[in-house]
Parts: sequence; structure tokens; C-alpha cells
Amino acid sequence: PPLYKQRYQFVKDLVGKYKPKKVADLGCADCTLLWMLKFCSCIEVLSGLDICTSIMKEKMHRLSPLPVDYLQPAERSLTVTLHHGSVAHKDPCMLGFDLVTCIELIEHLEESELKKFPEVVFGFMAPSIVVISTPNSEFNALFPGVTLFRHPDHKFEWNRVQFQSWALETARRYDYSVEFTGVGHPPTGMENVGFCTQIGVFVRKHPQTSESAQSEKPTEGVYKTVFKAVY
Ligand code: SAM
Repeated sequence: PPLYKQRYQFVKDLVGKYKPKKVADLGCADCTLLWMLKFCSCIEVLSGLDICTSIMKEKMHRLSPLPVDYLQPAERSLTVTLHHGSVAHKDPCMLGFDLVTCIELIEHLEESELKKFPEVVFGFMAPSIVVISTPNSEFNALFPGVTLFRHPDHKFEWNRVQFQSWALETARRYDYSVEFTGVGHPPTGMENVGFCTQIGVFVRKHPQTSESAQSEKPTEGVYKTVFKAVY
């Protein structure tokens, strides 16, 4: 399967393993991952955030309930919400999540946004699990014609040491553990370049109740809700 599907499948497998009830996808773009996660029966709250409203709106109708959802109401309740905003800003609507996914997001952040990102995601949202994927620049040697970055909007592409040192420092600072893996295997004989997409899975070391998290963090909302569906 294409690489983006392997990344989405990786997240689906993670949901199957940890059974989170509340999942937020940061940099959700056209909401394809959210749409896939809608079918995971453990999830009761699904939220997307993106800085670009037009891309979120393109296919967001797929997140609306279908006639069958009304005719055969499921046991679980499901609320799907889309917000317009930046991962460089805190908003209380992002509190209380179990799993936060950042798939191919960080390489699109300006230096100033990337600097604020750990405090927003790990410090403020502080979910039990965070998954971050980003290109592995060591793999680029296998792409003919890629001279600098794989995509013109990328602000950087990290090799494994660069990503892992950033991730380990972030995990240390916010009291998470982190494990590294990836998707997109290199061809036989080229194994030394590593996965095409590198992935860090962060797990919070100490449990935190959502009540304590929220009472300590009175912050005014800055995101704009652009879509909401209740199943
Ligand atoms: N996660 C999706 C996927 O894997 O298919 C989309 C990844 S796309 C390459 C990166 C997305 O991040 C874009 O939709 C972009 O608008 C969004 N983005 C860029 N900067 C952002 C920011 N500061 N806050 C939130 N989203 C941002």
C-alpha cells in the first residue's frame, strides 16, 4: 500500500492496542485519518485541528452521520469536531485526550512554531500517548531527483539522529518515554538508510486525571470550531 496508508494503518493499530476514548489529530488536513478512525468502536470523541480551513472543508462531509447511523444507532456515542488553529497555540478544547496524533506535521512548522509545539502538546494537552511521524532524510538518497526536501512546503527533514535527539529531549522534559519505529521499508541491500517515514510513540510516565489537568490550566480559547457532528 502507499506510504500514507501505511501511516494511517499504523495509527489504527495503535488505537487497537491502547483503546483510547478521545483522539485528536493535529494537522488533520483533509480528515482522511479522522474518517478512518470513526470506525474504531472504542473512540467516543474525535477532534481534528489544522491551520488551513479550506483543506479541512474539502471532504469533511465524510465525517457526518449517514442515514444508517440514525436508523441503527450504535451503543457508543461519538462526537466529531474540527477546529481551525495552530499547534503553536493552546486551547482548552484540546484537553482531556488519550491519544494525540501528529502525522507528517512537524516538518511543516516554522522554527518558532516548532519551538512552542512540545509545550502545547506534551505540557498542556498532556495526553497518555502521542504519536509523531516525519520523513527520514536518510531515505532520500533512494528517491531520484530529490535534491533538498521531498515536498516544497517542508521546513526541514531530519535524519534519525536528529529526530531521535529532539524526541528524547522532549520526552525527558515532559516525563514521557519514547520508542522509535517507522513505515516504508528500504529495498534489500539498502537497509542501513532506515524507514522512509520515521515514527516516535511517546507514552506518558505518570497518570494524570483530566480534572486535575483542566483545573490547573485556565486558558482562553483561540481555536475556531468549523465542524461538529454528534452520532
Ligand atoms: N496529517 C495529514 C496526513 O498525514 O495525511 C496531513 C499532513 S500535511 C503534509 C500537513 C498539515 O499540517 C497540513 O494540512 C497543514 O495545513 C497543517 N499545518 C501546518 N502548520 C500547522 C500548524 N501550525 N498548526 C496546525 N496545522 C498545521
